[in-house]
Amino acid sequence: AKSKGNNNYQIYTSSLDAETYKSFTLETDLRKALKLNQLELYYQPKICTNTNQIIGAEALIRWNHPEWGMVNPNEFIPFAEETGLIVEIGKWIKETVCTQNKAWQDNGLPAIPISINLSAHRFMEKEILADISNILQKTQLDPKYLEIEILESSLLDNETMILAILDEFKKMGIRVSLDDFGTGYSSLSYLQKFKGRIDTLKIDRTFINGLSRKDSDSTNFITKMIIDLAQHLHMDVVAEGVETNEQLEVLKELNCNAIQGYIFSKPVPAEEFAALLQNSKIK
Ligand code: C2E
Ligand code: CA
Ligand code: CA
Ligand code: CA
Repeated sequence: AKSKGNNNYQIYTSSLDAETYKSFTLETDLRKALKLNQLELYYQPKICTNTNQIIGAEALIRWNHPEWGMVNPNEFIPFAEETGLIVEIGKWIKETVCTQNKAWQDNGLPAIPISINLSAHRFMEKEILADISNILQKTQLDPKYLEIEILESSLLDNETMILAILDEFKKMGIRVSLDDFGTGYSSLSYLQKFKGRIDTLKIDRTFINGLSRKDSDSTNFITKMIIDLAQHLHMDVVAEGVETNEQLEVLKELNCNAIQGYIFSKPVPAEEFAALLQNSKIK
């Protein structure tokens, strides 16, 4: 960050409003963050509801800002998208995840797929395929252990192009999940076009939030519909944001066999995740 005694700083703060100023420092700071190793990936396990074992993980970015502390991705990812900084950050994420996962496997930890989040914007860019392919080659990670999470809403863009990209992912052997499923307004018939091209539906947290033993609204029903839909389309399903035992029990009754949420673990730093994974193997 700019030093407080700097004259430029005085000028900017007096002539710009707070929002503009914040985005100004955000951009300069975010540019530095990569070089200064302030970005960090946390990992959140995905759990099998039958065995309680870790069957996968999602990589979630954190920014350890020297003045603001841990900055939530929602506060800087949209900004990184706007400014194009996401390209460099995205490369760093992919490389870090693949390198980390390969190292864990080489150290004898169970081999699991680890997912990264791709915004609709990035997903549509041509270089993404070459980028991923280069990183897989460089890190020697088996492609089946890399998973891409794309928002359900990403599918509503240029259909021909999306199908082509998904086919390329399939050819490369990497997995694809639909994130925040149930919130993107894709029709059921539309989803059918993606059969065989999408491996997993991730049920959005808003539905899981509403699950209860005595369902007074239609949340349990909608969740069941999504689970059945996934089964019909030969897709796996993961319930996101599971926090309570009650939610877990209802999900088990609805035949949902994979969950992610605070009930098992929050997203944790790499070292902590490795310990969870090691432990999961012994069970
Ligand atoms: P998401 O992809 O839907 O990620 C799940 C979010 O839910 C994470 O928030 C996670 O910490 C949180 N979560 C997990 N389990 C629970 C739970 O039981 N209860 C509650 N209340 N929350 C839970 P996080 O890490 O703050 O990430 C927020 C969003 O930022 C992500 O939503 C994703 O869209 C985006 N994001 C995170 N990392 C990246 C990244 O590397 N690249 C991109 N493009 N987006 C990212
Ligand atoms: Ca996600
Ligand atoms: Ca999600
Ligand atoms: Ca409900």
